[in-house]
Amino acid sequence: MIVNTCTVIGTTERKMLRRLAAFADRDLYVTGCMPLVQMEDIRKVCAPQVIHPDEIHARAGNIGTSGAGAIGVVQIASGCVGQCSYCITRLARGQLKSAPKEAILDAVRHLVASGAYEIQLTGQDVAAWGFDRGESLPVLLQAIGEIPGQFAVRLGMMHPASVLAILDDLVEAYASDKVFRFLHLPVQSGSDTVLELMQRGYRAADVLRIVDAFRERYPDMMISSDFITGFPGETDEEFCETLELLKRAAFVKVNITRYSRRPGTPAAALKDLPERIRKDRSRALLAEANRIYDRYNERWIGRETPIVATEKNTPGSTVCRNPCYLNVIIEEDLPFGFSGRAVIRKNRRHYVTGERIPGGTCHKV
Ligand code: SF4
Repeated sequence: MIVNTCTVIGTTERKMLRRLAAFADRDLYVTGCMPLVQMEDIRKVCAPQVIHPDEIHARAGNIGTSGAGAIGVVQIASGCVGQCSYCITRLARGQLKSAPKEAILDAVRHLVASGAYEIQLTGQDVAAWGFDRGESLPVLLQAIGEIPGQFAVRLGMMHPASVLAILDDLVEAYASDKVFRFLHLPVQSGSDTVLELMQRGYRAADVLRIVDAFRERYPDMMISSDFITGFPGETDEEFCETLELLKRAAFVKVNITRYSRRPGTPAAALKDLPERIRKDRSRALLAEANRIYDRYNERWIGRETPIVATEKNTPGSTVCRNPCYLNVIIEEDLPFGFSGRAVIRKNRRHYVTGERIPGGTCHKV
């Protein structure tokens, strides 16, 4: 039994420990971030063997993984260049280690040849790829774009400070048909005071500069974000600045996490806010985020858009993506890789429904 762990927030950590305890009598292996920073806690509930996460790719000799449907995943880097005061991932994964460009290109070629359409590039901070090698993400994207075949890259989470360093070239890189117009930009707070305490290395105005640069060039672009509510010391005014940033940037698809103290991090020494405040702020942010999500989806209704079938969830329907990574559900069984056009009909918040226009092709059977 292999348990792949995460310890990014307190509730996840507790879930992992419960799961490990439930399998304590098995031949148990543990991997992921938790054994790298919380081995003592693990040993209290079981006595597993440890697999270092880097060892998995090293042994497989490949950084690509086939996902569900027509999805392939390539981990382009591990670690980061951040100093975020609340983050335990940094302690687990350490400094940025970018995969070599050739290894990434090989993995993408291989996944495309085996039928993947959506290639997800992942890492703790995808925008930082290459900073440790004297290379940069836009150059990598250009090389990926030259790989023949029908596919598109979905870029993973990008730290705003790393994006700022490559902003103009990155905006340009998104012009390629082989890059989904989707940006995951975790901003965490809209207050410069809180951002400083978090040691994030940018200000709220920088976030707007990034958002405006992308939206000016690609008006329909989907820009998603993550927020932490109730960071120690966050005042009502500072929380309102976060709400304002969310509204002004109109982030679509927002992950909201109540602050949770992580062991060994600098922020763990700060005094927590009451749980009620963290919860109330999280609710208020979510209500606004939902309104923005609805508004974004509604602007697509009645419009015709290209779609590609990438996943299945229920029989008789297919999950498709449009070039902005809009989640379009078509009530038909379409083969993975099918590409055609659809008219968007209804907003269901986390997805939209679409009606396929007759025609279309399938690049893989
Ligand atoms: S960039 Fe910050 S939040 Fe992201 S992994 Fe690094 S230290 Fe953690």
